[in-house]
Amino acid sequence: MTRSLFDTTLAAAATCAQNVPALRDFIPWPKDMPFANRTPRAIPALGEMRQHPGAATALTQPLQDALLAMADHVQWNLTYTEEEVGADFLRRFGWFELAGPRDGYFQTDITRMTVGYWGPNLYYPWHLHAPEELYFVVSGEATFEVEGHEPKLLRAGDTMFHASNQPHALTTHNSGILTFVLWRGAGLADPPRMDG
Ligand code: ZN
Repeated sequence: MTRSLFDTTLAAAATCAQNVPALRDFIPWPKDMPFANRTPRAIPALGEMRQHPGAATALTQPLQDALLAMADHVQWNLTYTEEEVGADFLRRFGWFELAGPRDGYFQTDITRMTVGYWGPNLYYPWHLHAPEELYFVVSGEATFEVEGHEPKLLRAGDTMFHASNQPHALTTHNSGILTFVLWRGAGLADPPRMDG
């Protein structure tokens, strides 16, 4: 039962990747990934995620639906400390690894696929990491800031690339944002740093 929820999500993500050139070109989509179940871990943000997932598009709606359907079965992470991001942030944020070399449900060494949610009116402070990263907005919107570029409002269906160790931040407004993120390059299993 649970497995089929993850299969549905992976298939919906693959459909988005096939239809969005930036995603399609970022990695060769891994085939036949072994599945590893994880113990679910709830986060406070799940209620807000259901209430304020943000608007999807025709392309991204199946992925939003699949992610909301599986949310109770997922091992969610918070990663950051209250000192780094504040208590409100930790109540309204969360992410998990759908595929990857370490904590992914689908095991692969060529990429990580993560899903992140931020509730309305949240600021995700500047951070950086060695792997390259490609954000895909599943639903909702946020202003993405990348060092060296003007801030940019992204909505469902949009993508944003972060180069290796390029500092970035994001801010949500009236809507939450649900994102699907592809990673590639060295340090795939390392956590992000906020000392940028
Ligand atoms: Zn990042």
